Amino acid sequence: MMRKWGKYLIILFAIVLSACGKPEAKYVFFFIGDGMGPVQVNAAERYLASMEGRNGIVPLAMNLAHSRGNITTYSQNSYITDSGAAVTALATGNKTSNQTLSMDAEHRYPFKTIAEAAKERGMKVGIISTVDIDHATPAGYYAHQPKRSNYYEIGIQLANSNFDFFGGGGFRNITDPKGFDPVNVIDLAKKNGYLYINNATAFNYLEPGAGRVLFVHPAVSDDYAMPYSIDMDEGSIALSQITQKAIDMIDNPDGFFIMVEGGKIDWACHGNDAAATIHDVLALDEAVKVALEFYSKHKNNTLIIITADHECGGMTMGTSYGDSNMDLSKLQWQMGSFMELTREYHAIRKGLLDVLGEEALKADSSWAFDFILTQTGLGDESKGLGFNSYEIKELSVAYSRSFDEKNYNDPYEYIKYGSYDAFMIAASHMLSRKVGIGWSTFSHTGIPVPIRAFGAGAQNFAGYYDNTEVYNRLLDIIKK
Ligand SMILES: [Zn+2]
Repeated sequence: MMRKWGKYLIILFAIVLSACGKPEAKYVFFFIGDGMGPVQVNAAERYLASMEGRNGIVPLAMNLAHSRGNITTYSQNSYITDSGAAVTALATGNKTSNQTLSMDAEHRYPFKTIAEAAKERGMKVGIISTVDIDHATPAGYYAHQPKRSNYYEIGIQLANSNFDFFGGGGFRNITDPKGFDPVNVIDLAKKNGYLYINNATAFNYLEPGAGRVLFVHPAVSDDYAMPYSIDMDEGSIALSQITQKAIDMIDNPDGFFIMVEGGKIDWACHGNDAAATIHDVLALDEAVKVALEFYSKHKNNTLIIITADHECGGMTMGTSYGDSNMDLSKLQWQMGSFMELTREYHAIRKGLLDVLGEEALKADSSWAFDFILTQTGLGDESKGLGFNSYEIKELSVAYSRSFDEKNYNDPYEYIKYGSYDAFMIAASHMLSRKVGIGWSTFSHTGIPVPIRAFGAGAQNFAGYYDNTEVYNRLLDIIKK
């Protein structure tokens, strides 16, 4: 009798033990939507429903998370953080000063990052971003610098990082801009065993076993970033494909840590460009779906976190002028990001200036109105984007000011145009307003941002807490 009961007790003990056992995350995905506050995500959800011609939202995959919370984002020396201090908080669990990268505020010592800790635990590490790979958010995981703008030094630290996969944007400074150091970042990476790839064919044929990878997207532009999702050619390599490739390349029995940044959400929000923002949020969500697919096969030990480093633009839904129905489908007529459209606008203007001269061109804004009509739908009554007389006046004033680009000494003009082309930013604001989207700033804001988690240990990330806490909560459940 005793023997029989003893057997049951042992089974019961084992069940209790396994129920109390802490989850351990061997495969960790950490998604950062740079500048992606709650509205950026909700606008993407509203856009999808608007495109189906109905009220409500189509929830993004990231918003179906098992657990949710909100995190405060202020830095050591400012309520509004920059991306350097924000990534330092998320990646190392420490507050630091704006512009600093994974070091203390006085720049005396480095902080160990979660990616470095994962590496020490035998996991492989992948770092992916749509912006240059030496930009603050990706760099915060592998570099330690007193200034985030030390791009060359950051590149050298990347090449020496021993991390297993880098993918996305390129480098700002492959060579030392001061001319002191003869080492080329790419050459050093190759010497350290990285396979450097910057074309689609090599990317597509990349197979596990090829070793460490440094992939720079073939379509990186002058600013070393991948194109905005709204500007991407069909067939261009998407963020989700880079995420899938990173999984294929570094999946191994000891696990991995993969950070994926949607970096241009922030850039689109700095430029108060609603459509570019929405499309980059959707691109990040596609990458989240790739991680969810992996999770479905490794449910016990995969953790997926999706958060932001801060909000940007003060984006909101509902304006005094705007469409209370928030019909964001009207953004579908925007043919490219406002950054790209402004480039085209300037090319056309330069051609006209050469022929007509400045005085004649200033007196004739019809070509500029035609440009925004064809490229954004603005002014088209049939699309619900017609102008009233005030709007025509507003754009005409901006047109004449745009010849004096980036010279807005009057603070009121700066509030209106920031450091952007006056006409194009006025058009961008007008389009946002007409669909019901408002912006409070060309910079970051201080509002808390959502954090979401799926899988092993997801419940650890519920609640309202500081961004530095994310690191501690993650360290608690990442593979020992
Ligand atoms: Zn940021």
